[in-house]
Amino acid sequence: MDSLTAGIILILLQFCIALVMAGVFFAAPTENSTRYWAIAGTSIAIGALIAILNNREPRVFVLLTGSGLIIGGLIYQWFGVLAFYKKPRPAWAWSICIAFLLSLAILMSADAPQPTRTLLFGITTMLLHALCMRSVWQGQEGPPQTFVQRLVQGALLLLLIGDVLKLWIAGAHLMDGSTISRSTLEVVTTYVIPTVGTVLFSIGLLLLYFERTIEENRHLATHDELSKLLNRRAIVAAGERELELSVRLQRPLTLAFIDIDLFKRFNDQFGHAAGDTVLIEVADILQKTCRSIDLVGRYGGEEFLVVLPGVDINGAAVIGQRLVNAIRSYRFRGEHPVTISVGLATLPLDGNCSWDQLIRRADAALYEAKDMGRNRFCV
Ligand code: GH3
Ligand code: MG
Ligand code: MG
Repeated sequence: MDSLTAGIILILLQFCIALVMAGVFFAAPTENSTRYWAIAGTSIAIGALIAILNNREPRVFVLLTGSGLIIGGLIYQWFGVLAFYKKPRPAWAWSICIAFLLSLAILMSADAPQPTRTLLFGITTMLLHALCMRSVWQGQEGPPQTFVQRLVQGALLLLLIGDVLKLWIAGAHLMDGSTISRSTLEVVTTYVIPTVGTVLFSIGLLLLYFERTIEENRHLATHDELSKLLNRRAIVAAGERELELSVRLQRPLTLAFIDIDLFKRFNDQFGHAAGDTVLIEVADILQKTCRSIDLVGRYGGEEFLVVLPGVDINGAAVIGQRLVNAIRSYRFRGEHPVTISVGLATLPLDGNCSWDQLIRRADAALYEAKDMGRNRFCV
């Protein structure tokens, strides 16, 4: 492949990426990262177009504009990554572009050999790719976990390898005093690796964005906004699965229905905001008092449901007492005493009990605890 064709492919792909990113940005304009990536794609594409048109006999101003646009585009790409992970943009970021342009202007006015420009360009792109890689690493807090995260890091690694090869070729030319021709290897390092790397990186960024959006929506659909616990739909679905498993494995299972005592009175006395705070704190205590394998959810208003796999009737009493004690002994903000009543129901030994029956039995036990004076549990 000749360098012109390779260059045109790179430019067209960059434009396509910019268009796709712009489309995603218009669909969700609150997301800044896609705006940065759209600007980055456009800037790199225009810069590369100028560089190719200017390839034969480079004029200083045009060369500065073309390569400045490419470096600026890479900076925007990095800004997109920072915005994606909600990290601030460092104030010194643009000084990379300024330092690059100044050095390039000096090299050109001093009539330095052509490979020195490639060397300068390669060092700058390598720095920006490395900064991107570091921001992705910090953003995802450590090594990549998902396929998409690996794809993004792999693409950046490929781009870095391309940079190193570019530096190596420029260095070799500088040593023997030749100018950079368009050999196959040079086309590969100048166009093919950047093209493949950029496409993979951009697709990876988009997938990263979709992966997060899907995860956020899944979380919204299954969690309660106030208490951050599983919502009713999610706790019931997870509880039914757990019940099925327990019946199949002939393993005990206990449900705990929890209701805050005289909560209406608390709201009337201290206001709904204070009531909300109590709900958040009770949710937190329930979560901390239960084991990590237990499922804790907000069933409705001031009612919570806990699914306790592996807990039999003896364990149920122990847990019921532990939950009541944990809330009773906790000092809520404002020092207002808060208590709960707990109704527990255990899966019978023969496993012959549906989810609805088990819920009804836990509810009946809860009513019994209320009737007996609240601040207690009933199995
Ligand atoms: P009991 O001991 O018999 O359970 O008495 P109670 O007052 O807790 O029971 P009741 O069902 O009469 O009242 C429940 C109250 O819970 C009514 C409502 O004001 C309050 N509540 C429900 N959801 C929320 C919420 O999201 N925030 C606040 N602050 N209060 C809530
Ligand atoms: Mg209630
Ligand atoms: Mg209540």
